[in-house]
Amino acid sequence: MLPRVEPSKRTIAEYEPIAPTELIAEIKKLAAPLRGLRVIHLNATPKGGGVAEMLQTLVSLQNDVGLKAEWYVIPPNPDFFVVTKKIHNTFQGKKHSLTNQEKQLYIEHNKKIAELMDDIRADVWVVHDPQPMAAIEYLRTRPAMVSRIHIDTSTPHGPTLSFLERYMKQYDRVVFSLPEFVPKDFDLKRVVIFNPAIDPLSPKNKALPPRAADTILEGFGINILNPLAVQVSRFDPWKDPMGVIDAYYLAKNKIPDLQLMLVGLALAQDDPEADKIFKKVQKHAKGDPDIFLFSDIAQIGPMSNDLFVNAVQVGADVVIQKSTREGFGLVVTEAMWKGRPVIGGNVGGIRVQIEHGKSGFLVNSSGEAAGHMVELLENRILRRKMGRAAKERARKHFLLPRLLRDYLKMLTELKG
Ligand code: UDP
Repeated sequence: MLPRVEPSKRTIAEYEPIAPTELIAEIKKLAAPLRGLRVIHLNATPKGGGVAEMLQTLVSLQNDVGLKAEWYVIPPNPDFFVVTKKIHNTFQGKKHSLTNQEKQLYIEHNKKIAELMDDIRADVWVVHDPQPMAAIEYLRTRPAMVSRIHIDTSTPHGPTLSFLERYMKQYDRVVFSLPEFVPKDFDLKRVVIFNPAIDPLSPKNKALPPRAADTILEGFGINILNPLAVQVSRFDPWKDPMGVIDAYYLAKNKIPDLQLMLVGLALAQDDPEADKIFKKVQKHAKGDPDIFLFSDIAQIGPMSNDLFVNAVQVGADVVIQKSTREGFGLVVTEAMWKGRPVIGGNVGGIRVQIEHGKSGFLVNSSGEAAGHMVELLENRILRRKMGRAAKERARKHFLLPRLLRDYLKMLTELKG
């Protein structure tokens, strides 16, 4: 049996005070003819990373509006995850060609996944990201199939893309977050584009009073009277934690009491690279007492990851997401929703979220990031103004009811 994940319990009624009335009405109208449709999601990990974060609420809301939605994860396998992380990296542009042995390992595990999928009755499978993508070829029964790619595939490494395109092309629909992520020559009739979204009611995103956030941060040695910059991200080369530290060093020349938190509590079972990257980051931080690194869930004791991340984002004076590739970057919306100005890498999904100079800043280098850190930290009014614009933008475009609507639209079209 594929491991099943129980999502959190949510109802669409809970979102009525936050989402526009017309959106809620549209959701109900779209959902009615889809009643009872068995929509089964499959991804690589039950926690850690944006996909698991979204499925927690999406699956629950799909059920609440009448679908029979379920969420399964693939059986974990460390060697397989080493290969799939390489696939992830090459999709995002790293030049690495898979060896025949790596391809074989990927295919063999996908055959096993397909066998387990065959035991589950589905009207539609939504297969997230490349890890289980090849299973489609080995299914005995094939209902409607959707592939949801969350990665920044704007500059993929050709050979890996060719290897996987064979599988990608078999799906009835392939959902990307941005048009520029669609591979060249891909059959556009099968392409659907929509952005991810955050759950404003989750423990990570629901309102936390700044005083409560400060108390939590003080408990971890942060001086709440001094400025604080944070980046919350897996320790992954594409999130550029080294570049964040460089930006911090530059900004600290102007703001000597600046503090930096890098939070990447290793939760995702499909990310075997985190330890290696963290060691490099630790070395680069050179024992600076104003740099606070969080890489292990044990560091926060009995506190939940969600409450900790909430406190970090609320307590930050400025939030950084200096990615060099980004499928979307839920952390950007999370911070925007909390009214924090974000300095984000000028790439992929971050460009969709931040309007440069209005709801945050887009940067191409550590130098630019440092410049905007100083600008924001020296100007409380600008921080407030941008934070307000950021919150409004998150409310309008990047909250879960909109994502639920986009899925319902796609399912309606798929069934039709
Ligand atoms: N996250 C977390 N704890 C951490 C680091 C990250 O809960 O220590 C969460 C973060 O709040 C966000 C998700 O992991 O909800 C990351 O999603 P994003 O789309 O930003 O990046 P991904 O990891 O999927 O590339």
